[in-house]
Amino acid sequence: MLDADFFRRWMTATAAAVDREADHLTALDSPIGDADHGSNLQRGFRAVATTLEKESPDTPGAVLTLAGRQLISTVGGASGPLYGTLLRRTGKALGEAAEVGEDQLADALRAGVDAVMALGGAAPGDKTMIDALVPAVDALGDGFAAAASAATEGALATTPLQARKGRASYLGERSIGHQDPGATSSALLIAGLVEAGANGG
Ligand code: ADP
Ligand code: MG
Repeated sequence: MLDADFFRRWMTATAAAVDREADHLTALDSPIGDADHGSNLQRGFRAVATTLEKESPDTPGAVLTLAGRQLISTVGGASGPLYGTLLRRTGKALGEAAEVGEDQLADALRAGVDAVMALGGAAPGDKTMIDALVPAVDALGDGFAAAASAATEGALATTPLQARKGRASYLGERSIGHQDPGATSSALLIAGLVEAGANGG
């Protein structure tokens, strides 16, 4: 079973990965965006880590809801409300249970990803974070490592796509040939599950 500590480790592992990869994420956002994705998420996830230390919410749902709220209030770009919605909706779906199973997490995360698609209007193949998140959720039944591989493959597979949502879509065909920054950061988020599971779960 996964308790609030697991979810806290998930968020801090993601914050550390975003810190490590911030320059790379910003570099990916340079040819097809405005070169701020790394700094946007770094600001957001640092705020998440700080808030979780101070407030120590005691259920999985409360950890994710608080994290989502922080992302919405600290990240300026399009990705803030989208990631914030993902975590808040996933947290809401987990309810008030003190511990949840991996199946429950998979169902909740699917509800979160559906909410991101409803908010942003993106579908798989539009060259967005959805292209990493949907394969990850589909693979989650086979474990965290399978989900992380699926997310990474999904992010890499955005390179030949033409963007149909977000800032990159303004470039039309010129968005082809570049990996999507948001799909890349989503793969970091899913990889955080593996780390959270390995470190004391
Ligand atoms: P901004 O585009 O406002 O500068 P960021 O650079 O932080 O915001 O985030 C860009 C990423 O957000 C994109 O790479 C893409 O994955 C994701 N994104 C943008 N618009 C959407 C959308 N409508 N639906 C899903 N993801 C989106
Ligand atoms: Mg940007």
